[in-house]
Amino acid sequence: MAEKAFRRALVAGGRKFGSGFIVTLDCCQHRVDKIQEEGMGMGARLQQTLERTASLQGCGLFGGVDVTLEMCPASEGHGIVFERTDLVDPIRIPALIDYVVPRPRCTLISHRGASVAVIEHVMAALAGMQVDNCLVRINAPEPPACDGSSAGFVELIDRAGIVSQSAPRQVVAVPSLMEVSESDHVGMVALPPRGDEYEVGYLLNYGPGPIPPQAFQASVTPQSFRDELSFARTFVLEQEVKALQAQGIGLKATPQNVMVFGPQGPIENALRAPEECARHKVLDCVGDFALLGADISGRITAQRSGHRLNHEFIRQLRRLTNFPALPSTKPDELRRAG
Ligand SMILES: [Zn+2]
Repeated sequence: MAEKAFRRALVAGGRKFGSGFIVTLDCCQHRVDKIQEEGMGMGARLQQTLERTASLQGCGLFGGVDVTLEMCPASEGHGIVFERTDLVDPIRIPALIDYVVPRPRCTLISHRGASVAVIEHVMAALAGMQVDNCLVRINAPEPPACDGSSAGFVELIDRAGIVSQSAPRQVVAVPSLMEVSESDHVGMVALPPRGDEYEVGYLLNYGPGPIPPQAFQASVTPQSFRDELSFARTFVLEQEVKALQAQGIGLKATPQNVMVFGPQGPIENALRAPEECARHKVLDCVGDFALLGADISGRITAQRSGHRLNHEFIRQLRRLTNFPALPSTKPDELRRAG
């Protein structure tokens, strides 16, 4: 039954999602209980952090502000935490679903009046390369855009080096068939893993226009993230650019540093893979799903979903598995100087 629904979801354009935010079609309560008894399947691998600090400069995609981003090693259980170093009283914001504030077209986290926007490509690189504990220090409201992909952040992680720690990394398994939907054509289906795999697929279909329907599915590992996903850039339609720039968004964006689709395809740019857009959407999912604060095992297929639905999926997965979201660093301890 579950398998059938999943297969149906894999057929591009062939799956219509019903209304209502989530329906658990095949809730295997015994499996949820089992996972809880076993401590969320802990012990699959050891936590990892960086060997040394490494930094990167650039300008933000949305605001165009010059920014330096520094990735620093962090202790076990620390998780991924962003620190706004440009504020008089630097504030740390855990990259966890509880700190997400809805914003169009990106993932933004906020705490005590400070925020960091467009964290998803940094998060994807850290999750993809399995860096679990990292303090990301940043002196502006958003990270460098780089080329709109995660490649620059993967290079940064390579420069910093990765080291194993001694505590196990927690894994949350999709416990039962889950369906999260926003409309008839926008939704997500997740199935429990067969073993310990983490698969993310994306079906992209914007109808007639310069971006053809396409799909991409990856079994997410550090190797596959590096080889198949990290280079895939974000994209925008030419007609959207003017509207965004009228709102002060992407003023420094050019067809060379952002992939802009005109009627004939990418303007003054070339695709890095035929289905680069779908690959980027998978990359966005990997980044947003990392807001759970644990590894995920399961098979997830998204259709035309965006950040809002990605966040809702993680909230539902956490509720369904009773996964505790907060890291060892308590929110009240996150406000500190330096
Ligand atoms: Zn993106």
